[in-house]
Amino acid sequence: MKLNELRAHELLPMIERQEVTVEEAVTETLDRIAAIDGIIKAYITVTGERALQRAKEADARLRKGEPPRPLEGLSVAIKDNICTKGVRTTGASRYLEDFIPPYDATVVERLEDAGAIVVGKTNMDEFAMGSSTENSAMFPTKNPWNLQRVPGGSSGGSAACVIAEEAVFSLGSDTGGSIRQPASFCGIVGLKPSYGLVSRYGLIGYASSMDQIGPMARDVKDCAQILQAIAGYDQRDSQSYPNELPDYTGCLIPDIRNITVGVPKEFLDEGLSKTVKDAFMKALEKLEELGAKVVEVSLPHVRHALAAYYVISSAEASSNLARLDGVRYGYRAAGCEDSASMMAVSRGEGLGPEVKRRIVLGTYVLSEENHKKYFNEALKVRSLISQDFQEVFETCDCLMGPTSPTVAFEAGEKTRNPLEMYLSDVYTVPPNLAGIPGISVPCGFDEEGMPIGLQIMAGQYDEATLLRVAYAFEQATDFHKGRPDTQKGAHESAGGGRSV
Ligand code: GLN
Repeated sequence: MKLNELRAHELLPMIERQEVTVEEAVTETLDRIAAIDGIIKAYITVTGERALQRAKEADARLRKGEPPRPLEGLSVAIKDNICTKGVRTTGASRYLEDFIPPYDATVVERLEDAGAIVVGKTNMDEFAMGSSTENSAMFPTKNPWNLQRVPGGSSGGSAACVIAEEAVFSLGSDTGGSIRQPASFCGIVGLKPSYGLVSRYGLIGYASSMDQIGPMARDVKDCAQILQAIAGYDQRDSQSYPNELPDYTGCLIPDIRNITVGVPKEFLDEGLSKTVKDAFMKALEKLEELGAKVVEVSLPHVRHALAAYYVISSAEASSNLARLDGVRYGYRAAGCEDSASMMAVSRGEGLGPEVKRRIVLGTYVLSEENHKKYFNEALKVRSLISQDFQEVFETCDCLMGPTSPTVAFEAGEKTRNPLEMYLSDVYTVPPNLAGIPGISVPCGFDEEGMPIGLQIMAGQYDEATLLRVAYAFEQATDFHKGRPDTQKGAHESAGGGRSV
């Protein structure tokens, strides 16, 4: 078995015992990227030299007898809307194509302090707006299980690189489903933490009241370990959760006999595909076999979640992206006569169609004539949805449903109809509106071998229960062990994204 094929919790003890060097582990990951990423296209930038340099430094420290750090030597890929000092961070937008941040996001700092090694920056929908990675201004990413299909989005590159074994784990961001939906489409585990648990400092803001960064990995244990490294108070994020955190790997006990699982009936509506529903029902049977009590519950207001989400997220996006004015950084159009036309032309040329759609929609719902009718109403719906969740968590330890109504769809299938694309997030959006955590774990494959994801949700800051239930389900099933046959066509590959 190659080192890049190992999970974090398999590779870490080998590095700790110095059976393999960090340099060997990182080299195998970089070789894999060079062999396969010309086809998968998960990376926008590969930081090979920098990674090897850091790997050598880590080996030197270990040889001197310094104790290994919690994520020592693990190759991590970072979504390209998370700032990395000295390494370009594009948000998959032409606007920031050559933007090199002068600082690291808190999560990057924490991962590197924990010993992880950044191997590259991953592709995504432009500014995290989308569900298929087709809105990237760079290129689309392929789903490693079937190259005709999308990997999901917006963290499509972060999901694809993990299942294609081009990184041990990755970070994504999730405003309405962007970690969980691609995790489900690519057959990996993706965790959106509670709002405020992980610092947003250094994340390019999309909808700041919902944005969260979280881990994407091959299993629940890896996710728990990564969450431990990145979560916790940061004074640079005003919404940061200030309290002590539990030991997330310590709570992974595969015993859920006293757990009550609520299944919101609204998550099993007519939009759900039959194969996904069948896999979900089998997952529920498995949980009952393990001793959990499964009950039907109702979240009466979630049917308005998607509408409220698009009003609120577009409003916040239009305000957040106003900073892209061509003055201090980013794209600046040439030959304009005054500053107002320079800003207008720069935005016109530098931003893609979906981003413009959101800015126009957001500006509209915030305008003097409309904000009462749309924005304020959406905020009320949001409160009602939060209340619905609070009520069910009085009797349930966690909730479950499918992550997305379908498996990964064909490339190009939904690009012409944005509303259809938006529906892909119908089950992932409610937890963002309510600020609660959600995780997607593999729960089956359809008849064509495409992975299916199960979403588990828990009360705010109750990641411990979330991870425990996810772990128990995973340990009782084999779906997380599936691997796509990416060897096919690998010889045609000509390496990854731009190398630095
Ligand atoms: N697909 C949703 C959107 O486009 C969610 C994106 C996200 O979570 N960043 O808004």
